[in-house]
Amino acid sequence: MADKSAIEWTEATWNPTTGCDRVSAGCDHCYALTLAKRLKAMGNPKYQNDGDPRTSGPGFGVTVHPDALAIPYTWKRPRVVFVNSMSDLFHARVPMDFIREVFDVMAETPHHTYQVLTKRAHRLTRIAEKLEWPTNVWMGVSVESPHHYDRIHDLAKVPAAVRFLSCEPLLAELPDLPLEGIDWVIAGGESGFQARPVDPEWIRDIRDQCVRARTPFFFKQWGGTTSKSGGRELDGRTWNQMPGLAG
Ligand code: SF4
Repeated sequence: MADKSAIEWTEATWNPTTGCDRVSAGCDHCYALTLAKRLKAMGNPKYQNDGDPRTSGPGFGVTVHPDALAIPYTWKRPRVVFVNSMSDLFHARVPMDFIREVFDVMAETPHHTYQVLTKRAHRLTRIAEKLEWPTNVWMGVSVESPHHYDRIHDLAKVPAAVRFLSCEPLLAELPDLPLEGIDWVIAGGESGFQARPVDPEWIRDIRDQCVRARTPFFFKQWGGTTSKSGGRELDGRTWNQMPGLAG
């Protein structure tokens, strides 16, 4: 989907690949997996490749879309673009050459800012040195619990201009976050019918760690049945800080 986004911290989404496989607890209620099933049933040609039913699902098999590479060139006005809201660019089944092509597109459209988020931080660090890192590419990893601090250590080695953490859906307290070399932290609770509740103290603790480390903090939402259920105020205010911007 290359369209306006409802995600609070970005403006548009761009999916040069679609499909994925669940890798950790944060994936348990993956919205993309559910949406892909619906898009397949509606006949959307990008979602006709089925994934492994144990880890993926109908319409959610990893698929590259070379035709989507042309889309960012057609956006004349600068946009903040979330890359692969329906996939993980560093999935093992996305060929290295295709990842390089995606990075080439991002380098050739410097008027846009690209946010790339992965749970495959090991592959990211393995291939990071084979990629060009233009300053308009922000690289992030998901960290839903302390089991995944290794992703942060991997990210810290990547020569991206902005490195960020997405602590969403937050499933546990995140004590002693290694924030050195991290430029931005997003946190949020889970949404949907099976949403796992977030403890406000977990969010406060991340906010306080970010304030102490002077790392911009963005609180996306409390979560609940829908993403708007609980609102997005934390102790009477919103937190919309972004790298280089006040919040
Ligand atoms: S890595 Fe992301 S896209 Fe892939 S299954 Fe997990 S939550 Fe879904």
